Amino acid sequence: MILNFILIFTFISCSCFACFYAIKKAMLTILTAINLVVGTAIALLALLATVSSFHENQRRAGYISLLGFFFNCLFWTAFILLQSYPLIRAVNLLALAGLLVFALVSWLRFFPRPTSFQAATKITPYDERDHMFSRNALKFDEEHKKIYYDQLHPELRQIDAAIHARPELGEPGATFYHPYYSPAFVAAFSFLSRLKPLTAGNPAQEKTKVDPHQMKAAIRKLAPYYGAADVGFTRLEKHHFYSHHGRNPEQWGKPVECHHQTAIVIVVPMKVSAMKKAPLVQAINESARSYTEAAKVACVLAEYLRHFGYDSRAHTDGNYLAPLVPIATEAGLGEVGRMGLLIHPRLGPCLRISMVSTELELPPDKKKEFGVANFCRICLKCAENCPTRSISFDDQPAVDRGVAHWKIIQEKCFAFWKSIGTDCGLCISVCPYTKEDNLFHRLVRRYISRNAWNQRLALFFDDLFYGRRVKAKKNY
Ligand code: SF4
Ligand code: SF4
Repeated sequence: MILNFILIFTFISCSCFACFYAIKKAMLTILTAINLVVGTAIALLALLATVSSFHENQRRAGYISLLGFFFNCLFWTAFILLQSYPLIRAVNLLALAGLLVFALVSWLRFFPRPTSFQAATKITPYDERDHMFSRNALKFDEEHKKIYYDQLHPELRQIDAAIHARPELGEPGATFYHPYYSPAFVAAFSFLSRLKPLTAGNPAQEKTKVDPHQMKAAIRKLAPYYGAADVGFTRLEKHHFYSHHGRNPEQWGKPVECHHQTAIVIVVPMKVSAMKKAPLVQAINESARSYTEAAKVACVLAEYLRHFGYDSRAHTDGNYLAPLVPIATEAGLGEVGRMGLLIHPRLGPCLRISMVSTELELPPDKKKEFGVANFCRICLKCAENCPTRSISFDDQPAVDRGVAHWKIIQEKCFAFWKSIGTDCGLCISVCPYTKEDNLFHRLVRRYISRNAWNQRLALFFDDLFYGRRVKAKKNY
C-alpha cells in the first residue's frame, strides 16, 4: 500500500516536472519567435530608413539609421541567446510590453488643441495691389506708383523704395547671381509671361451636356497624365478672388470680375534634392521649372473644358485672379504651414500650384486635415532658419481679413530675395515635411498625422537625423 502510494506520488511528481519543463520550453520558444518577429520588423524599418537616407544623399541620417540597425540586431539577439537568465527574460518582457504600449499609443488619434484654424464668417478679399510682386512692379509704372503711394498706402513708400533700389531677380549684382544659370529662371518666367494669352479663350459655341461626376473623374485622370501630382476641386466664392487687379499694368486697380463656379487646383511637385540647395540658384530654377509645369497642366485643362463649351481660365504664375493657397486647402490638397505655404500630405511644401476656374459646376472635394497646425506649433524650424526673421514665432496665428494664419513679413522676405538674386526657399528646404515621397517618409507622415505625442517624437528624430539648422551649400 505504502509502496503503491510512493510509486503514484513519484509518477505524478515526475509528470508535473516534465509538464512544467515542457511548458517552460514552449514559452521560451514563443518568446524567441516574438523576439525574432519584433527584432526583424524594427531592423527592416531601420534598414529602410538607412537606404532611403543614403539614396536622398542625407548621410547623417543614413549613418544614424545604420547605427540604429546594428544596435537593434544586437539587442534582440542578446535577448534570444541569454533568455535562460531570469533577469534578461524580465527585461525582455518589459521591452515587449513597452513596445506594445508604444504601438497602441501611436495608433491613437489625439490632438489637445484644434488642428485647423477656422475662418471667420466674413472674409475680406485680398487686394492684389498689396502683394509684394505688384508693389515691386510699380518701380516701372510711374502712373500707378503715384496713386499707390500718394493715395492708398503712403506708409509703404519708404519701405518699398528700398526694395525698388535693389537689382531685379536674375540681374547681376545679387549675392548668388550666376552668369549661366540665373538667366535660366529668367527665361522660364518670361516664357510664363508670354503664355498668358493661352490661359483664357472662347469656349465652343454650343455647350455639351456633361455628367459632373464623370467629368470630374476624367479630370482626375488627365491632370496626372499631363504632369500633376494631385488635383482637388472646390466651389468658388466671391471672397476667394482678389478684390482688385495688381500685377497687370493694363488692369491695375480694376475690380476683379470672375463668375466661375468651380476651382480645379493642380499641384506639381518640386524636386526635393533641388530645394535642399536653397537659397541658391538651383532652388529658383526648380521653382521656375515647376511653375512652368503647373501652367502647362492648367492651360491644357482649361482648353479641354472650353472644348465642351464651358468658359474656363487657367491661373498661372504671375497671372492669377485669386491667391491659390487658401483655395487649395479647401480643395482638400493640404493645410497651410507656419511659413504660409500649402503643405500637401505626400509632398509637404515642396510643390507649386496652378488652377483652372470654370463656369461648369463640379462636385467639391472635402478638406483634409492631418495635424499640420499642431506640428507647426511645436516645430518652428522655418522661423528659426529664416535669415530675415519674416516668419512668425507666435504659438497662435493672427486673424487677418477674417482668416487665421501665421503671417509672413513679405517686405523683409522679398527684399532678401532681391539681395541674393533667388527666391530663397530656405523655409521649404528645412521643413520636416520636405522629404522624398517614398515608403519610409509616407510611414512617418502617417505616424505624425495620428497624435501630438507622435509629432513630438518625430520632431526629436527629425532634429537628430537632419539637424535643426541649415548648412551652407555651393551654387552649382
Ligand atoms: S523665403 Fe527665405 S526669407 Fe522668405 S520666409 Fe522663407 S526663409 Fe524667410
Ligand atoms: S518648418 Fe515646421 S513650423 Fe515651419 S511650416 Fe514646416 S512644419 Fe511648420
